[in-house]
Amino acid sequence: MKLETQKNLAQLTWWKVGGNADYFIMPESVSELETALEWAEVQGYPVTVIGGGSNILISDKGIEGLVICMRQLKRVAIEKERARLIVTAEAGALKAEVLKPFLQEKLAPALFLCGLPGDVAGGVVMNAGVSECIVPREFVEIVDWFEVLRRKDGKNQILRFENSDVHWEYRHTSGWQPGVITRVCVSWPLQPDADMSKKVKQATRMRLMKQPLNKPSCGSVFKNPEGSSSGALIEKAGLKGFQIGEAQVSEKHANFIVNLGQAKASDILKVIEHVQGEVKKQFGVELRTEVKKLGRWHTDPV
Ligand SMILES: Cc1cc2nc3c(=O)[nH]c(=O)nc-3n(C[C@H](O)[C@H](O)[C@H](O)COP(=O)(O)OP(=O)(O)OC[C@H]3O[C@@H](n4cnc5c(N)ncnc54)[C@H](O)[C@@H]3O)c2cc1C
Repeated sequence: MKLETQKNLAQLTWWKVGGNADYFIMPESVSELETALEWAEVQGYPVTVIGGGSNILISDKGIEGLVICMRQLKRVAIEKERARLIVTAEAGALKAEVLKPFLQEKLAPALFLCGLPGDVAGGVVMNAGVSECIVPREFVEIVDWFEVLRRKDGKNQILRFENSDVHWEYRHTSGWQPGVITRVCVSWPLQPDADMSKKVKQATRMRLMKQPLNKPSCGSVFKNPEGSSSGALIEKAGLKGFQIGEAQVSEKHANFIVNLGQAKASDILKVIEHVQGEVKKQFGVELRTEVKKLGRWHTDPV
């Protein structure tokens, strides 16, 4: 297993910003992951896990300790049982890969998965989903169980969480931490929809029209407040196009902050804080971030 030092992380994120990891590995097996966790514990280093990097803002000052990137753990197994399609994927398998067997069988999960970047474990951590009223629309609806590798009393433990053991909320899960998700099992009844390929193509076209996918971003920066839309509030506040350095509130979709090329993570954070301040001032609404801040930030979490 290759342990790298001072590894730049920007290219591993969708925003293309952020500093270095003090130490970095990309395990290719669970046993390599176990070795890495043990090593970090012995050294007294904190551990940060990244998946597809599509929902994280890494500080320009980098991340202390060991950063583990899960992308090489990406095998996917498919079976049919009890009239269901069952897909068991290692944590770093892309959602786009998990989607394929569902699409092949013309099953409904293909439709919401087609809009989601990143890997399958990131989908569980975030309870990722789409805003359209479709079934299923969030990870909670397709996950049967997942496994977590945890260090406890100087040993590694693999714990299995059934769907009902976990607290699933809008873009958040709890009840399984601490640990690293290693494997996820998702399933759906084998009830094909003949129009599924057409629906996936339409949804992909809509997304390309609505989202600024030609520039680096992390998707929606803010969670929607109960009963309203962050994008609509930001637009109403007159903030479309607001820019600090090369970080800009997208002209196309106000809940996206795009990197125009040379943005720094600190520029993006300043835009986030400005948007939060303006929306609070103008409408009395607190916008909470969906994106996770990782690394050496010296301000309070947003
Ligand atoms: C263009 C674009 C569009 C998007 N559209 C949507 C959308 O429609 N709906 C939606 O919900 N999201 C959307 N997102 C956000 C993002 O894709 C999702 O939140 C995604 O599920 C994050 O997965 P990831 O693998 O990239 O996770 P990362 O961004 O790498 O990590 C997210 C969090 O999970 C933790 N984590 C990752 N892997 C593990 C693991 N194995 N074990 C423990 N913790 C782990 C990380 O520490 C971090 O806290 C979009 C992002 C982009 C860039």
